[in-house]
Amino acid sequence: MKYWRKPLDAERKRAPHGNVHVIFERCKGCGFCIAYCPRQVLEVSDEFNRKGYHPPVVAHPEQCVNCRLCEALCPEFAIWNTLDEQEVEATK
Ligand code: SF4
Ligand code: SF4
Repeated sequence: MKYWRKPLDAERKRAPHGNVHVIFERCKGCGFCIAYCPRQVLEVSDEFNRKGYHPPVVAHPEQCVNCRLCEALCPEFAIWNTLDEQEVEATK
């Protein structure tokens, strides 16, 4: 990840990992989630949904930090995030 300044505790803190879920048929192809993802996790799909839009695909799942910005921005509630299973176990 590129920072405009490097956090002082960057060596000690580990970024969480998230899983991205897309409801393919609900998407209206606005592209907000793709454009504003800070880690460039999402890309435009080659496929069409039934409405004729190109929903996002999770092209780089390993880069997701579960910031949930895509979930907050989506006007159709078509994308959401969950914390990676292993991280959930680690917090128990
Ligand atoms: S949760 Fe954050 S990093 Fe992950 S895909 Fe959404 S916007 Fe990108
Ligand atoms: S923000 Fe929502 S509606 Fe827009 S492209 Fe992403 S998933 Fe589709």
